[in-house]
Amino acid sequence: MAKKTVRDVDVKGKRVLVRVDFNVPLKDGRVADDSRIRAALPTIQYLREQGARVILMSHLGRPKDAPDPALTLDPVAMRLGRLLKAPVRKVNELTGPGVQAAVAAMGPGDVLLLENSRFDPREEKNDPTLIRELAGLGDLFVNDAFSAAHRAHATTAGLARVLPAVAGFHMEKEIAALERLMSEAKRPFVVVLGGAKVTDKIKVIHRFLDLADQILIGGAMSLAFLKARGLSVGASKVEEEGVGVAAEVLEKASGAACELVLPTDLVIADSFSEDAATFVVDVESIPDGWMALDIGPATAKRYAEAIAGAGQVFWNGPLGVFEMAPFAEGTRAVAEAMAACPGVTVVGGGDSVAAVNKFGLADKMDHVSMGGGASLEYIEGAELPGVAALPDKEPA
Ligand code: ADP
Ligand code: MG
Repeated sequence: MAKKTVRDVDVKGKRVLVRVDFNVPLKDGRVADDSRIRAALPTIQYLREQGARVILMSHLGRPKDAPDPALTLDPVAMRLGRLLKAPVRKVNELTGPGVQAAVAAMGPGDVLLLENSRFDPREEKNDPTLIRELAGLGDLFVNDAFSAAHRAHATTAGLARVLPAVAGFHMEKEIAALERLMSEAKRPFVVVLGGAKVTDKIKVIHRFLDLADQILIGGAMSLAFLKARGLSVGASKVEEEGVGVAAEVLEKASGAACELVLPTDLVIADSFSEDAATFVVDVESIPDGWMALDIGPATAKRYAEAIAGAGQVFWNGPLGVFEMAPFAEGTRAVAEAMAACPGVTVVGGGDSVAAVNKFGLADKMDHVSMGGGASLEYIEGAELPGVAALPDKEPA
């Protein structure tokens, strides 16, 4: 069911509290990657053009319930101003008299950024006193932070319960892409799962076993499956708990319509380093002391072919240690096959998205979810509090 959006309400002249996700990586006090800021620009620009007063809220990092100078949103305000080509005022608090005065001084189209919402310990407690203080600053609440929607916090779910609330454009886009993927699957539906841990993604695997036609497994996750099959994985990074989980998944998969595909060859290395000695071996032949850090070329080719023929593809989790060049080829093959795939292609997950960006293929995908944890929880079938709190569109 589609959510009401900023287009469905009158925002002219209103004070609009907008929850965005400006949780960006910082380096030396500057924004290292501004994708998340760019993702919020359509909503911010629309509101400004409509003559709204735009009051932005976001968290950044994990401050320990108190202001942390390393996690101030000051660098974000600077970058946002540059992207908008307009002044962005930033205050050093989330609520209080200083913020009230700054809001009172705003004119139509002005942009104000409040300080990191997690500096206030009441944010993550979804505390009613904080919600009331924030609500007093605005006439309307817009949630454009899909990636924070799996948390029931004051600025995500809380405000939507006390102010008229709608989704922003980025939120709308994320929900629409995932909803289409899960409810109108175009066949064959191919899922690629990799990354670090099976246990992180166990619910996602089960959901896809019910829904997809093929699940292609790679990354460290695949080693837990190979070990569960009784193979020796040498010195590879394997999560012990994951082996039992993988065994259960294999059991369920044997009776499922969905095919679970494991690597047949691997790139192994004698150390976890860029200049390790490397070989390609069959999965049955990992020598003691060696670790598998990527899927092998035969597996990469097979996965790329499966992707090429897919009606839709969802990918989460790198197929190898793509951060190091010798172990990036499996991940690159999957990213390139998706980029060329005529079907619907969706990538989700922090590291997978970083890989796609690194290969310069992001704009070749139908949807790159910035959701991370939220997109996986959505796929699992969980209700996201930040989404659930927004009202549905009225039937036309
Ligand atoms: P995402 O953020 O896309 O959900 P994860 O966080 O689950 O993905 O996993 C990403 C990490 O998994 C990457 O840092 C990558 O280096 C690591 N990884 C992938 N394959 C292996 C492997 N064979 N051995 C060790 N680490 C791996
Ligand atoms: Mg990750």
